[in-house]
Amino acid sequence: MSTSNSDKKISLLRRRLLFSGLSLCLPALAKEEFATLHFIPAESSRVAQRSPSHHQSSRSGSRESVKRVMIDPGHGGKDPGAIGHRGSEEKHVVLEIAQNIRTLLKQHKGYDVKLTREVDEFIPLYKRIEIAHQHNADIFLSIHADGFTRPEAHGASVFALSTRGASSTLARYMASKENAADDFTDIDVQTRDTALQRVLFDLVQHRTIQDSLKLGQHIIRQVKAVHPMHSQHTEQAAFVVLKSPSVPSVLVETSFITNPNEEVLLGTQVFRMKIAHAIAGGIMRYFAHAVA
Ligand SMILES: [Zn+2]
Repeated sequence: MSTSNSDKKISLLRRRLLFSGLSLCLPALAKEEFATLHFIPAESSRVAQRSPSHHQSSRSGSRESVKRVMIDPGHGGKDPGAIGHRGSEEKHVVLEIAQNIRTLLKQHKGYDVKLTREVDEFIPLYKRIEIAHQHNADIFLSIHADGFTRPEAHGASVFALSTRGASSTLARYMASKENAADDFTDIDVQTRDTALQRVLFDLVQHRTIQDSLKLGQHIIRQVKAVHPMHSQHTEQAAFVVLKSPSVPSVLVETSFITNPNEEVLLGTQVFRMKIAHAIAGGIMRYFAHAVA
């Protein structure tokens, strides 16, 4: 599917956008604004000359496929994330799951996997997108284990960005909770937004969301084999951390840490490895289909 001319053009646009740095303005954009922005061509040969083929190594010059995966353990540092009834903190649980995903993927040839954080530290949401771009990531996965108002809520969920509002009440609720992570930061993202003139590439963004939904479905297929799903399809809402215009991005809620049973599960190494195994399997299937 990636062989048609239009796909190649979109891939090139993605690459141009990737290096343009415009994504830095994204965290400040409200979801309604996404729908009104227009495509403006990337300026430059400077950008084009830095644009390697999507799945080829730019370092070695070889044609060997390299899949660059950015795993983002949610929260960290002064932002503990959700806290379970037994006191479990989301930030610790998701860091270990993210590390497990990396370990599993790196057992396979051609995977270059990085984490946005390796330790218990706070990283603003826009910075996480920036790290993915610096890594030249092909995909971005933010890993979470959030809470909900009802303790009986349970199961895993996968989310992608929406430019037209949330697909469900839960999706809207989760996006507002995750986006609140930036309440911990002092940086005025509005200033960055103005400086970059709020330019977005609608076409590229649309295509990126389509790929995000595909990635989400591959992950759901794997996860539901080992754990109940809260929703059987990829939900959508205006998650700030998923607003990269060029990198397919999903947010995986592995379970509800506010559900007493799932808090116990999340506390076990067995479950953290099991869910990581399923997510890694979804990632591998996404790439297998992308290049088929
Ligand atoms: Zn979270």
